[in-house]
Amino acid sequence: QAKEAGRNSFRFFTPEMNAKAHEQMILERDLRQAIEHKEFCVHYQPVIEVTTGQVTSCEALVRWNHPQKGLTAPGYFISAAEETGLIDEIGTQVLEEVCKQIHQWKKVPEMKAVRVAVNLSPHQLRNENLVQDLQTMMTKHGVEAGQLSLEITETLVMQDPQGTAVLLDEIRKLGIKIYLDDFGTGYSSLNYLKRFSFDVLKVDRSFIMDVHENEGDAALVEAIIVMAHKLGIKVVAEGVETIEQQKFIIEQKCDLIQGFYYSKPLSAEDMYDYCRSTTA
Ligand code: C2E
Ligand code: MG
Ligand code: MG
Ligand code: MG
Repeated sequence: QAKEAGRNSFRFFTPEMNAKAHEQMILERDLRQAIEHKEFCVHYQPVIEVTTGQVTSCEALVRWNHPQKGLTAPGYFISAAEETGLIDEIGTQVLEEVCKQIHQWKKVPEMKAVRVAVNLSPHQLRNENLVQDLQTMMTKHGVEAGQLSLEITETLVMQDPQGTAVLLDEIRKLGIKIYLDDFGTGYSSLNYLKRFSFDVLKVDRSFIMDVHENEGDAALVEAIIVMAHKLGIKVVAEGVETIEQQKFIIEQKCDLIQGFYYSKPLSAEDMYDYCRSTTA
């Protein structure tokens, strides 16, 4: 029956649709090869603690070192990886790389207190072996409680609130903190903030962008920070690019700042240099 539908719908493909489908097929093929050849690497973006001005954590961001295109950002491949389920394998490679890096940084005075947050996609959270995989990986590389965090988005929480609640509790038992990423862009109810007891909330860049010229955005950011603090949740402002944004965010008593104003995502080596120069 599926075959029948497939054959029928084929006729309605326009030339552009065929081109798009072809592109997707190539991307999928290349992604499979990238997984096999381990073409992914991880960059780290510093997150600055407002009260001390120090880098206390960073976000791990995957990059694909494409044989023809060079270093590509997730915008190019993450949604295809998510749709095909290849994100599970990519995510495992990212996690492995991050755990190795944490192990390396443990030996370095400037780096040993820097926590690393890894993004998890909805597909990865539906993987039944996730908790076991996390545990195995942490043990293998000697990653301790508090060194690793995970960032998840509202979309995921919305899809299955009950299941997510149970899963997040199990993950927390491993000593992994949970961040709610891109806050404000989804449709989740404010009630979820309380129910899931997220450790950290990341205010999406789209709200930060115009804080100094748009009163509405400024009011929202201010209210989000107050609300999160009342619930005992720390707040990261994402995508801070200018000094005006940085000043506003600090005035609002936001806990942590991430953005190009401080640094773009860096290779592990450059991240080390960055931290060394800020702790000096
Ligand atoms: P995200 O988790 O919200 O990550 C923040 C994104 O904002 C990163 O883009 C970062 O480079 C960018 N960014 C940070 N500061 C600024 C700024 O000041 N200005 C601007 N314009 N952008 C800024 P990137 O690295 O391209 O990642 C995009 C998204 O891809 C991430 O959004 C995340 O959802 C996803 N992603 C990245 N790495 C992974 C991964 O390992 N696994 C999964 N499942 N998803 C990932
Ligand atoms: Mg993130
Ligand atoms: Mg984000
Ligand atoms: Mg984002």
